[in-house]
Amino acid sequence: MKIYNTLTRKIEEFIPNEEGKVKFYTCGPTVYHDPHIGNMRNYVGHDILDKTLRYLGYDVLRVMNITDVGHLTSDSDSGEDKMVKSAKAQNKSVLEIAKYYTDVFFRDFKYLNCRVPDVVAPATEHIDDYIKIIERLMEKGYAYQAGGNVYFDTSKLDDYYQLTNHKIDDMVVGVREGVEEDNNKRNQADFVLWFTKSKFDRQELKWDSPWGVGYPGWHIECSGISMHYCGEYLDIHGGGVDNIFPHHTNEIAQSEGYLGHKWCNYWFHNEHLMDESGKMSKSKGATLTVSLLKEQGYDPLAFRFLCLQSHYRKQLVFSYKILDNAATSYQKLKQKVQSLQNEGPIQQDIFQEYDAKFRECLENDLNTANALTLIYDLLKSSVNDSTKYALIEAWDQVLSLDLSKKEQVDEELKQYILEKIEKRNQAKLAKNYALADEIREELQKKGIILKDTREGTTYEMVSSKN
Ligand code: AMP
Ligand code: ZN
Repeated sequence: MKIYNTLTRKIEEFIPNEEGKVKFYTCGPTVYHDPHIGNMRNYVGHDILDKTLRYLGYDVLRVMNITDVGHLTSDSDSGEDKMVKSAKAQNKSVLEIAKYYTDVFFRDFKYLNCRVPDVVAPATEHIDDYIKIIERLMEKGYAYQAGGNVYFDTSKLDDYYQLTNHKIDDMVVGVREGVEEDNNKRNQADFVLWFTKSKFDRQELKWDSPWGVGYPGWHIECSGISMHYCGEYLDIHGGGVDNIFPHHTNEIAQSEGYLGHKWCNYWFHNEHLMDESGKMSKSKGATLTVSLLKEQGYDPLAFRFLCLQSHYRKQLVFSYKILDNAATSYQKLKQKVQSLQNEGPIQQDIFQEYDAKFRECLENDLNTANALTLIYDLLKSSVNDSTKYALIEAWDQVLSLDLSKKEQVDEELKQYILEKIEKRNQAKLAKNYALADEIREELQKKGIILKDTREGTTYEMVSSKN
């Protein structure tokens, strides 16, 4: 399998440390706000990588953190903790806020058919791991105490900027406009490992440490949690492109300072989902969520389909127009798959031939768009229906679009559909064809396809998400 590695800025052959096994860490959500669809595009990208590795036969250990402490409103270590800020605004405790938004996150995660990682670890449950790392960094001279905090000394590393493009001046936190300098730091790029003093001292959660009662800086959790579960050698570390600097750069600095050797071989980064005003961002208050799309009548898997239509390393600009197009294509594809007559023998040689093509798409830096095109090619081909169906079912282990899943229609939904059909019939009688079309489209978005027959209008369900 070939994959783009941010560390080397090349597409490379993927070779895990231990044959057949992959240790894969993903930066998890900061749970102070609803996860917007940009965040979820990032997790769909990670889900595809996770499932591709499994499809190719690797034994994967996937670990993800939940940031429930320590993510500040500013990269310069001088901001307020986002969790504390949200808790204050909502008059709740930090842990109540964390629990609420963690649940919201996993609800949307599951709507998108994302596989829950093998380990999901809240940052607050691993304080001992961070203290252990910081103690060793102090012993080895990589960390120092100043003004009540413990800092990482970035000048002690030969190549602090190895993950970035080495544009040092652009990268240093503290020289950017609007960011105030922290006079405790020996070097502008140094960052906090442990806080005991901050302008924003009303931190609710604090722990005892060799440097006084305080709380961790906002990079140490990913090093601590990753090493706790994956050990000293990590194969893949993933996140969004905004995590490259300073978060992942600092993770490498502290982990390699601590370990004394290279830590992670492959760095996997997803490009952003944008809207008309730029990058969708929680801190800018982005509120378009997967749950909201669902309430608006979209099948969440139509959003997943939209994500898979483009490459994970390309920015994607969201609009309802492109979502509508994706929703229509998705429903049509699902309908085609469900109309296959799944009878008769599977043509094994053809199965292998097409499956090899599918693997090739994913092995080529996760080309999901080509994998979708392959489904259309297969459906058009003269391959028998049973083989087509078996291939698409197998591929759905990675794509997770529920293409072959038939619906169970519940009574309430049945009633709703029948009322809509009746309304549409009346609209047609009144020659209000615009309204009739609108009703048809509204149902189609929900995965309900109307068919006008001589006996009247019938319907077919092609979606499981409504
Ligand atoms: P957060 O919960 O804000 O820490 O973000 C969770 C993950 O979503 C991080 O790995 C970010 O890199 C990623 N992310 C944030 N905004 C976007 C976006 N607009 N598009 C894609 N990924 C994003
Ligand atoms: Zn992280």
